[in-house]
Amino acid sequence: MKPGIHPNYEKTTITCACGNVIEVGSTKKDIKVEICSKCHPFFTGRQKLVDAGGRVDRFNRRFNLNK
Ligand SMILES: [Zn+2]
Repeated sequence: MKPGIHPNYEKTTITCACGNVIEVGSTKKDIKVEICSKCHPFFTGRQKLVDAGGRVDRFNRRFNLNK
């Protein structure tokens, strides 16, 4: 890598809401995500961790409350 031609590309960590920490190279620092490959239902097949933020709960309330 030649100096000076790349942006500030350093090692940083992505912290997921599930507690998983991924180390990556990025120009951003201390990235926070709500979902990652470890807790995404597509990869885990589980819904529980995704529901932790209450988003599914809110969704259900919005569509079921005023029946
Ligand atoms: Zn995660």
